Amino acid sequence: MRPHPSTSRHWDGTLRTRHPRRTLAIARDSPSRLLRCAQPARCRHCGNRIHWHTTTGPSPVSLHPGELPADLVPAAYRWHLASGIAYPAGDGSPWCRITHTTVCPAATAPGDLPTPLTGIRRKLALHTRHLVDTTAFTALPSPPIAPDDSACRPQRPVVQLLYTRYVAAVPVEDVPCVAQTIRRTRCTTPVLAPGTNPGRWTLMPPTPHRHGTRQLTLPATDIAVYDLTHLSYSEQLRWRTQRCPTHTTSTAAPDLALPDWEPFDPLHHHPLTVTRLPTDPRSPR
Ligand SMILES: [Zn+2]
Ligand SMILES: [Zn+2]
Repeated sequence: MRPHPSTSRHWDGTLRTRHPRRTLAIARDSPSRLLRCAQPARCRHCGNRIHWHTTTGPSPVSLHPGELPADLVPAAYRWHLASGIAYPAGDGSPWCRITHTTVCPAATAPGDLPTPLTGIRRKLALHTRHLVDTTAFTALPSPPIAPDDSACRPQRPVVQLLYTRYVAAVPVEDVPCVAQTIRRTRCTTPVLAPGTNPGRWTLMPPTPHRHGTRQLTLPATDIAVYDLTHLSYSEQLRWRTQRCPTHTTSTAAPDLALPDWEPFDPLHHHPLTVTRLPTDPRSPR
């Protein structure tokens, strides 16, 4: 009797393995909504590929993609990853990672950069030139754009929410949603979407703890702060997690990028501050 042809085998008799299709989902108790820990992006100053990683500190770090032999990298420049978190040291293995800023051709090279890293930096510089020549990339001025008082629109505004001050990466009207849409692309709706309550530009002291133990030698002039503290807790949380009204924190949509908030340091960010109230583009003229 001839065996019945089985559909679970290929024409040559090898087994046809079927993997059930699964959809990636974020666990309910996950501290992060990111689908992957290394967030791919391009350096805004040189156009080369970078990977953003979370650190134990408040800010993420951009690492050069790929590992390097640890014996080519001085100990001061070594980073390693453990459970998706980036640490500024080697882990004793023969491989390590480096930050992108170490080899970014748009940044000033450290004087003691060893030859192998200088080689990588030169390679990235050539790639930047290729991107510029093919109009695939337009370099941002470095250092970041200085605030333009005449435009009355701080390029990197100071924003106060949940009793903390942050510096935004872009003007408040342009802060983008970090969520992934059902089409698996990044949402293009801004956090300050039409119909939402805006913040209030307010002049405030540069540091909320003027009489604290930390004595700062700062000018007494008040700075313009985009204050969101009059909004509800859930609205302030929506701003902090950088999501549009459709992708509020209650939705299951994963994140495609890390929020861009940088904790405000009155001394470090002093050149970015403005001392008069910007014009609110959403208020009637
Ligand atoms: Zn760069
Ligand atoms: Zn969104």
